[in-house]
Amino acid sequence: MIIILLGAPGSGKGTQAKLVAERYGLTHLSTGDIFRAEMAAKTSVGLKAEGYVKSGQLVPDSIVTEMVAGRMDPAKKYLLDGFPRNLEQAHCFAGDLGHLKMTVNLVVYLNLPEAEVVKRLSSRRSCGKCGEVYNLLSSPPKASGVCDKCGGAVIQREDDTENTVRKRLLVFRDLTEPLVAYYKAEGLIKEVDAAGGIDGVTKSVCGVIDGLLAETKKK
Ligand code: AMP
Repeated sequence: MIIILLGAPGSGKGTQAKLVAERYGLTHLSTGDIFRAEMAAKTSVGLKAEGYVKSGQLVPDSIVTEMVAGRMDPAKKYLLDGFPRNLEQAHCFAGDLGHLKMTVNLVVYLNLPEAEVVKRLSSRRSCGKCGEVYNLLSSPPKASGVCDKCGGAVIQREDDTENTVRKRLLVFRDLTEPLVAYYKAEGLIKEVDAAGGIDGVTKSVCGVIDGLLAETKKK
């Protein structure tokens, strides 16, 4: 089973993906997290991706699609977060999945107005050590600048600064929105209002997944 979580940067994709993957025993695959880890470890993929990630551009499709295909195992169930990001990646992924006899079962689209996206991203912080995500307005760390989980330094992602956020939003509008139309045409998309609190959005996402599981059982 493959579930894709789609949404603008700041729509809560990463937070929801972690919660939902744990609840249903899905393997959480976040291309953004993978790139950040590869960059921190200075691997060849990390070095290739660095300039794109830091400036808010998409990493070239060939690098991303190869990286994801290499991680897919037909014996596992996946929750994809941040991939595919454009139509080319979606087409290429569909081909790779075909070879593995796997298929995308559901695409959950977290819909959030742009003004809310900018507000959320400019107050988003994360732990430089373990990646735990905080929001200075809605879920700040208990001690300012210190991660509750591991004591690491809580910092702003380099690509969450205002200029880069605007660039990422443009990229999202131009490239990712056509994906929503593509998956709609495939009959795979379910839209969730991402404007509520974390628990409310999780409930809605789980409702959609429960619907899929109930349908799969019937077949
Ligand atoms: P995210 O954490 O999902 O917001 O991703 C952070 C950055 O990683 C993006 O702005 C891109 O530079 C890169 N990235 C993540 N996923 C992809 C993807 N599917 N295609 C191309 N670039 C990606």
